[in-house]
Amino acid sequence: MIIAIDGPSGAGKSTVAKAVAKTLGFSCLDTGAMYRAIAWQALQEGVAFDDNESLGALALAKEITFGHTAGDPIPKQVFIDGVEVTDAIRTTEIDKAVSPVSAAPAVRVALVAQQQRIGQGGDYVVEGRDIGTVVFPDAELKIFLTASDEERAHRRVRQNVDRNIGSFDYAEVLADLKRRDEYDSSREMSPLCAADDAIILDTTEYYIEVVIDKICALAKEKSANERQQA
Ligand code: C5P
Repeated sequence: MIIAIDGPSGAGKSTVAKAVAKTLGFSCLDTGAMYRAIAWQALQEGVAFDDNESLGALALAKEITFGHTAGDPIPKQVFIDGVEVTDAIRTTEIDKAVSPVSAAPAVRVALVAQQQRIGQGGDYVVEGRDIGTVVFPDAELKIFLTASDEERAHRRVRQNVDRNIGSFDYAEVLADLKRRDEYDSSREMSPLCAADDAIILDTTEYYIEVVIDKICALAKEKSANERQQA
């Protein structure tokens, strides 16, 4: 089963995806980390953010992998071509670079193919911006998480403080979220939007635990229905 979780930055996708995967015994794929890793590599190699061809070649050539600690299905580390970039992809510099890099059509083609290959390997919770619309349009369950801009910025600052990485400045983080949402929603290829059959959940209104329980209950309902139909 594929559970697609889409939504803007800071809506709680990562927290929810990891908790749902843990509860259901699914694997978890953070597609944002893959776009961030390509943005990091582009910066290392001095590839211009508007050079679609070179960015696409880079995304095809570089393998992105995830590291787990023994017995834990939730990935803790991100590698690109064997180089660990877990923390390096969470900096303010990457926050700024990732939207233009992820808007390059050739990058999207390469990464979507990788994501589809990974997801075919079993039960996955996949989080991103275009999972229910483009990557897994036949996902059994599609969730679109939202929250107010202010709430999302507060959460991202708390997360940055916990990780001791990125900006701790609320105004800067709020401005970055808005800029990225605007960029992600208005790009030509696979813009951020809810699939027609997605369930929209606003995490400003509900405690995150309530959202997690709701998604797990919906997934169990879906798989019970599928078993009955089989
Ligand atoms: O989820 P996260 O905030 O780490 O994603 C970083 C960026 O990667 C997003 O702002 C967006 O530009 C891009 N992204 C995307 N499609 C996805 C996941 C992320 O374009 N499926």
